[in-house]
Amino acid sequence: MPLPKNCNVGCLALRTNWLRIKIINLLIIKYLHLKMKDDKVKPKKYLGQHFLTEKRIAERIVNLLQLSDSYTRVLEIGPGMGILTEFLLQKTAFKTVVIDIDKESIAYLEKHFPMLENQTIFGDFLELNLQKTFGEQTLALIGNLPYNISSQILFKLLENRQQIPEAVFMLQKEVAERLAAAPRNKEYGILSVLLQAYYEIQYAFTVEAGSFNPPPKVRSGVIRLRRNEVEKLACDEVLFQKIVKTGFNQRRKTLRNALKSLQLPESMKDSPFLNQRAEELSVADFVRLTQLYEGKV
Ligand code: SAH
Repeated sequence: MPLPKNCNVGCLALRTNWLRIKIINLLIIKYLHLKMKDDKVKPKKYLGQHFLTEKRIAERIVNLLQLSDSYTRVLEIGPGMGILTEFLLQKTAFKTVVIDIDKESIAYLEKHFPMLENQTIFGDFLELNLQKTFGEQTLALIGNLPYNISSQILFKLLENRQQIPEAVFMLQKEVAERLAAAPRNKEYGILSVLLQAYYEIQYAFTVEAGSFNPPPKVRSGVIRLRRNEVEKLACDEVLFQKIVKTGFNQRRKTLRNALKSLQLPESMKDSPFLNQRAEELSVADFVRLTQLYEGKV
């Protein structure tokens, strides 16, 4: 932690505390190195740990990263025991960094993959500041995601989209399908529109529950996201998000009713979009609807 110029006693105490926590974590990880020998990481349900057991599938997932010309680093979220990491480390086009919230997993990885030296982060991906950690560098994200926080991870991707040209994720199958869905499908929803505004999304393949230890209750789907050319939408982006979210919150209603709380301006009352339901509108339609709201067209 950098020391501010006008550092007083309180701030020094803070720094000492921070150092103490760092050292304790380091010692625990070192202790786990020794204790672990060749034991495996015990799957912890509360961390969403379902370890993929088939290398063939792991290799297929890693091979979905194809835009390595546009980044030099790949950040793996939740490497666990490193079944994806092993294949990532074989690639020379980028450097692999991993983040896991589980100390035992980090200890396991450091022990089994010496190549990962100084490239492991022990922490919560949702708390990680990508700009601070990676500066201006672009990076790809990859991970067999903990399913309980996958939506939050996707929102974080969205917030950091300028820095992330590509991502490959394994998620609960229904969520993966929803993200890649086209309009007029019952799977098409908030995250499909928001992500498809900035990413091309391809549903790659399905993975059965039996390919994990322990097997999850659901099937999984792998998707690949590639940043599109859109730098900025042709409308107010915050308003766009608000309209999409409000529209889908009552997805069975026409937009005229679903968007009532936004007090639609008189000028847009005749728009044919308002007679449709949110799931019938494409990203371009939502942009247009936002422009209408802003009185731009
Ligand atoms: N990639 C491995 C493990 C997947 S299980 C495999 O395919 O076998 C999900 C992993 O995400 C676990 O290792 C879990 O510890 C980690 N995890 C859970 N929540 C996390 C968070 N908030 N930030 C980073 N990692 C997390």
